[in-house]
Amino acid sequence: MKFVEEIEVKGKTVFLRVDFNVPLDENLNIRDDTRIQASLPTIKYLLQKGARLVVASHLGRPKGQFNPKMSLKPVAGRLGQLLPGTNIIMAPDVIGPEVNSLKAGLKEGELLLLENVRFYKQETDNDPEFSRKLAEGCQVFVNDAFGSCHRAHASVVGIASFIPEKAAGYLLKKEVDYLKKITHNPQKPFVAILGGAKIEDKIPVLESLVTKADALLIGGAMAYTFLKARGLAVGKSLVEEDKLEIAAQIMKKAEDNRVKLLLPLDHVLAISIESRDAAAVADSYPLPEDLMGVDIGPRTIAEYGKLIKSARTIFWNGPLGVFEAEAFARGTMEIAAAVAGSGALSVVGGGDSIAAIQKAGLAGKISHISTGGGASLEFVAYGTLPGIEALE
Ligand code: AMP
Repeated sequence: MKFVEEIEVKGKTVFLRVDFNVPLDENLNIRDDTRIQASLPTIKYLLQKGARLVVASHLGRPKGQFNPKMSLKPVAGRLGQLLPGTNIIMAPDVIGPEVNSLKAGLKEGELLLLENVRFYKQETDNDPEFSRKLAEGCQVFVNDAFGSCHRAHASVVGIASFIPEKAAGYLLKKEVDYLKKITHNPQKPFVAILGGAKIEDKIPVLESLVTKADALLIGGAMAYTFLKARGLAVGKSLVEEDKLEIAAQIMKKAEDNRVKLLLPLDHVLAISIESRDAAAVADSYPLPEDLMGVDIGPRTIAEYGKLIKSARTIFWNGPLGVFEAEAFARGTMEIAAAVAGSGALSVVGGGDSIAAIQKAGLAGKISHISTGGGASLEFVAYGTLPGIEALE
């Protein structure tokens, strides 16, 4: 994979894929421009080097329909503020004759922002003809949309077949450099922490980690499917009945590979998620039939904390409890503090884990906060992503 600094871009029309999927309020104001800021280094570099820059992104899920509520126009406005002195042109469409003539008219150092690529269903279908139209008039393809790299979409994967020169932007390179430290010979001990609601999205990463990690610490609702698969009664806790078999297989694989797979030793229990109040803490089974596990308990925090402290590499994705409620947030917040204080190389992905780190004011103590939750999980599972392969 080439890096953008390794290719000549002066005078060339460069197609840059970014992730400008920013949250908008009801008046279409941008609520948080972190994602725009994240790709500014690549945008500034390309403009300074004299590229004629075509920028593309998705925003929300317009499902193949033009939808003014998901237009990238507000992003063009924000780019204007962030790049004073740069001529920024908002395209009326994604492809077509009008867009092509705007591309052709671009001067060096000018930026053309295309409309939302997902206004076309062919984007998510990775349609070759649509990919070709996206590529029209462009000589270089730069991808900086790490958060979209696990999707085989036209502006991420398909387009690469129609543009000979391609490279990763600064953000994508940084993500890959850090994630490789997790997947390629991580410094040992390597401890992975996985939480969140469902096993379903995490099966590939679990399958991979049970062969690579030294310890795998499991929390969140996911833990209850594992506990039930061990034959324990977990009360009203969330269990994915159709995943009991796979959970058992994953535990067996961990044992065969001598990977420590740890499940919570004690639980904060509540009547329901909505109750917002803890009813009890339990460390023996069966858990009461009318209660559900909503957070890891103090013994688990201490035990997981010890392993985190001894780690030299840490990967964390997913909250260890229903951290949105104050009474059930302690496990996630304590794990955030332990990871931040560990001194290990740490990579954290997933909106909830990042929110916990930020809420605790610990972001500066994490080696790398990934901009793509799903993409980072898939990278750790497979060691690469479709959008990265497309750049090779
Ligand atoms: P995910 O998107 O899979 O990372 O899941 C995140 C969600 O899992 C958050 O909204 C948490 O509230 C939820 N969650 C974490 N632990 C539990 C639990 N023990 N019971 C129910 N939901 C949980």
